[in-house]
Amino acid sequence: MHKALHPYSKEHITVDEYIREFGREGISEKTTRPRCFLCKSGLFIRALSTPNSSGHFSHFPTNAYCPSKATSGLPYLGLYPRKPNQENAIRLKSLFSKNWQKHFLKLKDLAPGLHINEFKEVIKAASRERIWEYAELQEFQLPYVFSTLIDFPSTNSIFFDKKYVRKCWFRFWFDSSVKQYEDLWIYRTEPLTLTRAWYKQPQRGKPTLDDFMDAYSVNITSDFLNNSNLPSPYVINTIQPWIEQIFSGSVENPRLN
Ligand SMILES: [Zn+2]
Repeated sequence: MHKALHPYSKEHITVDEYIREFGREGISEKTTRPRCFLCKSGLFIRALSTPNSSGHFSHFPTNAYCPSKATSGLPYLGLYPRKPNQENAIRLKSLFSKNWQKHFLKLKDLAPGLHINEFKEVIKAASRERIWEYAELQEFQLPYVFSTLIDFPSTNSIFFDKKYVRKCWFRFWFDSSVKQYEDLWIYRTEPLTLTRAWYKQPQRGKPTLDDFMDAYSVNITSDFLNNSNLPSPYVINTIQPWIEQIFSGSVENPRLN
């Protein structure tokens, strides 16, 4: 990680900034360790082989859960609802097919440069992961959950003016109180947050923690459902027929191609 949370403020600091304030020995004291954005646990500084580099922040090798440690980067996949609720699935799919434009814009707000194909991909992933069937899932939570279903590489974003609109590889996680989507509804003293992390776009393959540049918390709100903005006519004309097709006939079993 190129940045981490300051040991006791909300500041995001680089390794150089950390060393300037605490010295390398700061790591030996639990109270002055830089902290992970996600799990808030203390980090250490891992040296790099690259000359002139101060190194990266890294987790201590403990078993503490942190979504950023998942090898795939997508820790919530393959964990289906324990008590699937078909009634909620029908309700959510119906609301979503009506309001998909608001969801598109919210997801685009989270992942700038959102490509139509990425939007289609999250909807397919949502059905594969049976997201609709979570009994307590509310419509406003959909785009936040969607954001955690796939990676958002720069090279999948809109290509405009000879460059990709999204400069980095984006990835989203809920805070570490969430190990599976069921945990979204557990009692918590702190409000649930979503973290948006960005990585340097690797030459090939998926980014590693060494490519992790920075991260910010995103508040989870339902405000976007009251927004009357619309996506561009091109987006509407491309996605509307696709939505109608996949949710046609039976909303319980959308036909996904
Ligand atoms: Zn962590």
